[in-house]
Amino acid sequence: MPADDIQLQEILASNAAWAADVLKGNPQFFAATEAQYQQQRPHTLWIGCADSRVSEAAVIPDVNPGEIFVHRNIANQLHLDDNNALSVLQYAVDELKVRRVIIVGHTRCGGVAAALGEARSRAAPLSASSPPAGKLALSQWLEPFTQTVVGLLPQLAGLSEAEAVQRLVDVNVKEQVAQLARTQTISNAWAKYATEDRAAVWIHGFVYDLDTGLLRDLHISQGPPGSELPK
Ligand SMILES: [Zn+2]
Repeated sequence: MPADDIQLQEILASNAAWAADVLKGNPQFFAATEAQYQQQRPHTLWIGCADSRVSEAAVIPDVNPGEIFVHRNIANQLHLDDNNALSVLQYAVDELKVRRVIIVGHTRCGGVAAALGEARSRAAPLSASSPPAGKLALSQWLEPFTQTVVGLLPQLAGLSEAEAVQRLVDVNVKEQVAQLARTQTISNAWAKYATEDRAAVWIHGFVYDLDTGLLRDLHISQGPPGSELPK
């Protein structure tokens, strides 16, 4: 269907076609009482960007409903005072017992570009210091990462905007994984691994490349002391 002028009815029709297709493959899919679909048992929590091109369902099409618990926001942030993200994390780890949490950034991220633009405008002489009112929420949301970018501006000098964004996308994921490791939920889970014989929860950082369709592991995984990085 033409993406630009899709109608509301077409969204509903597309959903109905999908449901019919699923039933063709497995008539009990939505009915089976023991099915994963009925009682979700996700193995993974995906914390990604709200960008419409980077949905977990689209880039890992083999996973079924019930397998990946999801939290998405602009520029895949994990703020330690964000009860939205922290409650998703807590529920995923403590109740659903996911085995891994993955922060997923992506190339050409508009949120990262906005943080870079804000950081550069603060550094520019005679810059307007406050964002337009309509952008205030976004600017506040990105502020912690903008602060990081301000500190990195000397290293980014001479790079084009695209090159700088490319580099900052990785920096952002690394920063959010580090934040994740500082949460109460993850430190509790790691402490319990040592004392209560619970399965290890690992945290990882990936970047999705819009130009190749591939997820790249940044190899910054962390898990509880004494556990081995799962394959
Ligand atoms: Zn993004």
